[in-house]
Amino acid sequence: MIAVDLKNDSELQDLYRELILDHSRNPRHFGGMPDATHQAHGINPLCGDKLHLYLKLGANQEIRDAAFEGSGCAISVASASLMTDIVIGMNTEEAVQLFGEITRHLAHGGGNIAGTMDLGKLRALDGVREFPARVKCATLAWHALNSAIQQQSDPVSTE
Ligand code: ZN
Repeated sequence: MIAVDLKNDSELQDLYRELILDHSRNPRHFGGMPDATHQAHGINPLCGDKLHLYLKLGANQEIRDAAFEGSGCAISVASASLMTDIVIGMNTEEAVQLFGEITRHLAHGGGNIAGTMDLGKLRALDGVREFPARVKCATLAWHALNSAIQQQSDPVSTE
């Protein structure tokens, strides 16, 4: 962990807040996918967030494309937008590992979600740890990702 002075820290916080707002207003990879190979439906009853996630996996279990539809609060939409952006190009093993790291990190803190990968922008979601009720908004898309990869037929719920 690199020590940062307070000024830089609050500048970073502002940057992350802007990133969340940007992704919630202009979500990436938003829309359907007629030729999806995997999909999952996720709901967060606590907040009313709903999303449907589509994945297109290649022959070597690589995530060739990802897209989502649905409606929800800014955090849930921004998280889905960031998630789809990041997992495209990963293989399913890497994606499931990242799902585990992120859900653990957001629920319990600790760990380092940036790891060795270039996942700096996921730190934008760090702020939600101060609001336990919103953690489920941030993790919904990741639960849907895991469910789609595992080909679970039941919708995922954060409850
Ligand atoms: Zn929400």
